[in-house]
Amino acid sequence: MSRLAVVTGVPGVGKSTVVKLALERLKEVGLEYELVNYGDVMLEIAREEVGVKDRDEMRKIKYEIYRRIQEGAAERIANLAKEKPVLVDTHCTVKKPEGYFPGLPKWVLERLNPRVLIIVEASPEEIAKRRSRDASRRRDEELSEEISEHQQMNRAAAMAYAMMTGATVKIIKNREGRVDEAADEMVKALR
Ligand code: ATP
Ligand code: AMP
Ligand code: MG
Repeated sequence: MSRLAVVTGVPGVGKSTVVKLALERLKEVGLEYELVNYGDVMLEIAREEVGVKDRDEMRKIKYEIYRRIQEGAAERIANLAKEKPVLVDTHCTVKKPEGYFPGLPKWVLERLNPRVLIIVEASPEEIAKRRSRDASRRRDEELSEEISEHQQMNRAAAMAYAMMTGATVKIIKNREGRVDEAADEMVKALR
């Protein structure tokens, strides 16, 4: 059976930052995960198919096309996971103009079959600040209440995914200036 873990969290919460540190630590103890950013794989396909250039533009792609690109990415990632342990950096739900879009609907779950599902969370106020400080991305500007709603929807989605796969759900707090502690918690979940 392939060993695949999924890390999720609202945009700007710090997933990619925490994941990087956790994987370095796991490597030190001899457990090597291949890191796959789901958005990277989707962007590769979106570039070829619809000429989208920016990862933060993808959310606006039309539903039918978006769904097909998502499925194509799952196929590619599942193939990789046949060979080695994979950690997928992704989203429980994606806020599209049409509403919350599931990041792991059944056509993705069936292919990835994750064993562990991690949700990285922080306070909505901290997340809003992280988004505005990070000039490398064009994330949506949102009110605290909107970020809070998105985090609630992500928890609900994660538990639904767990029911479908038997994966465990681990919630990790990424507190301000304490990436280190969040990485420690992530290491425990991935060992
Ligand atoms: P996306 O889903 O949009 O890819 P992400 O969850 O991967 O977002 P990151 O890119 O890892 O988020 O982090 C967003 C910003 O927050 C970065 O500038 C990062 O340096 C900062 N950051 C991450 N964790 C913390 C923390 N614990 N304290 C302060 N700043 C942090
Ligand atoms: P990220 O760098 O994690 O923000 O990913 C970039 C973009 O990829 C996101 O804003 C989404 O549009 C898309 N994306 C990532 N993971 C998924 C997923 N599981 N399902 C659908 N879209 C995704
Ligand atoms: Mg990221």
